[in-house]
Amino acid sequence: MAMWNPWRGCRKYSDGCKFCYIHKGDSKRSVDTNLITKTKNFEYPIKKLKNGEYKLKSNQMVYLCFSTDFLIEEADSWREECWKIIKERQDLNFLFLTKRIDRFLDCIPTDWNDGYDNMIVGCTIENQRTANYRLNILKNLPIKHKNIICQPLIENIEIEKYLDDVELVVVGGESDYNARPLNYDWVLNIRKQCLNKNVNFEFRQCGTNFIKDNKLYKLNTKILCSQAKKANINFIAKSKA
Ligand code: SF4
Repeated sequence: MAMWNPWRGCRKYSDGCKFCYIHKGDSKRSVDTNLITKTKNFEYPIKKLKNGEYKLKSNQMVYLCFSTDFLIEEADSWREECWKIIKERQDLNFLFLTKRIDRFLDCIPTDWNDGYDNMIVGCTIENQRTANYRLNILKNLPIKHKNIICQPLIENIEIEKYLDDVELVVVGGESDYNARPLNYDWVLNIRKQCLNKNVNFEFRQCGTNFIKDNKLYKLNTKILCSQAKKANINFIAKSKA
């Protein structure tokens, strides 16, 4: 896996952004996160070695824009170049997550058609309001690989009717001392919906404030992912062939 951040910075956009780790990290270093700036890694996936080979090896996942939002307005004039890079590197798979899925059709290249094979798009939601708004948009978009990221999940949500052409649903809680709690029942409810629709499901992260069997636990940040893994509730969809 590799990270590619052609730009950085982001503006808080919805409820899920309350404890954004980019903003938290930047504030410790007195960096203004609201300033969206190009990075020196803009062309990272097409950088080459002296022998002419790409520096970035083939057949891996490239996590795109994990310190910003790929669809943010400030990057509109830069994105076209990124699409060209993604198209050039057919030997890599790219994944970006976005809370701005309503901008998607304004952001795609002219040759997008029904989507690039090597592009996975994760639509991030946090509550029923954002689920209804964003997933209603996502379901009609020409994207070959769709993921739904329920993180940070801050309430119980019903999403089964939006799962028809979704490949993976990820659930995670919020990480912060004052984080809004994650109730394990909500996680199991989403899992049940994925099982009903035969969609891959992953419980990726507990919340700092985690409720199980009506009891509130305060968990250390370091164990949020390992605790979720220990629950052993991930689901791999049965082949639809
Ligand atoms: S959209 Fe994502 S990166 Fe941007 S402020 Fe919200 S949580 Fe942070």
